[in-house]
Amino acid sequence: MAALRAYADIDFYPPWQATAPCTGRGRDMDPDERAPAEVARARAICHDCPVLERCREWIAGIPLAADPGGVIAALTFHEREELELAKQPPRTCRTCGEPKPWRAFPPAKRGRPGRSWHCRTCHNARDRARHAKRKAPQ
Ligand code: SF4
Ligand SMILES: [Zn+2]
Repeated sequence: MAALRAYADIDFYPPWQATAPCTGRGRDMDPDERAPAEVARARAICHDCPVLERCREWIAGIPLAADPGGVIAALTFHEREELELAKQPPRTCRTCGEPKPWRAFPPAKRGRPGRSWHCRTCHNARDRARHAKRKAPQ
């Protein structure tokens, strides 16, 4: 994901956000998602925000590809991604042909929205088969 630009630099931010407690705190609002204390600090800023509900509606209307990242409306980027994926119709696995929810597909570096076309079950089976082939005596 692209690094979060400073909040003040995001030109599509709505005017009502200018007085929100996150303004000018781009660093605090872009925590390392693997650091729970940092994430909790950013969420606390949102929880004290008078426009939290408005902000939640606003970010829900922005496509994931245009999402600026960081904590917004008390949600991390990955939480917003999960919510977005949960709204998508099931995807058909190109290996087993079964329709499955998006979260059944592992993340992929390429493609949008960044999920493999093969479900986790098929991925794991393929990995096991490759591993067994490598271990087999020649
Ligand atoms: S809810 Fe959070 S991200 Fe949204 S305007 Fe308020 S402080 Fe900023
Ligand atoms: Zn499959």
